[in-house]
Amino acid sequence: MENSLRCIHLATANAHKVAEFAAFARQAMPEVEFVAARRMPAVTEDTGTFTGNARKKVAALRAVLPERSWVLADDSGLCVAELGGEPGVESAYYAGPQGDSAANLKKLVAVMRDVPQLRRGAEFVCVLVLWDGAAGQEHVFEGRCRGCLRVEPVGGAGFGYDPLFVPDGFDRTYAELGDAIKNEISHRARALQALARWLKAKDAQP
Ligand code: IMP
Repeated sequence: MENSLRCIHLATANAHKVAEFAAFARQAMPEVEFVAARRMPAVTEDTGTFTGNARKKVAALRAVLPERSWVLADDSGLCVAELGGEPGVESAYYAGPQGDSAANLKKLVAVMRDVPQLRRGAEFVCVLVLWDGAAGQEHVFEGRCRGCLRVEPVGGAGFGYDPLFVPDGFDRTYAELGDAIKNEISHRARALQALARWLKAKDAQP
């Protein structure tokens, strides 16, 4: 049983993701401190899978940290059924390699403009890759959140495609629901819940 605060380095330069991880830890994993990477090395996300890309981010951060560090990376995206799963792993670069999230959102709005409500289903996916530096082992967790796409973006909270995505069971977008609700139901929250369950079980072992 380990009682001390476990420090997990986050392999991301996305301040919104860091805030979501930190909010989750405060609420559900008080024994964990997520530490944002001070200098996240650039990573080319070219593996074609969420898991492969997250693995690359972990490897890049591990290379600049002490050997036994714990490292966590997420790779996530929005999969739209009508588009055969696109933008998917390419979500951050949907409108081009510059990774402009306003342009990505604008492109998705345009591509989906004439698609009827019944065919506007979408799913956010998040894969977390955790490197347990003490054991030298990798663990993978996944979270999904199903919903549908509005025709026009609405709401000011969050980031990326949040203003377009209405999760199942709600009539407002992630961006209207705000951080507190998003952090309970989102793809990232669900993946983090799986990670939290795993850590709890691990720490309960004699
Ligand atoms: P990543 O940082 O390489 O994982 O790219 C994730 C991309 O997917 C982001 O740039 C957004 O476009 C999109 N994305 C992932 N999670 C979210 C979310 O919670 N809200 C809105 N967009 C998201």
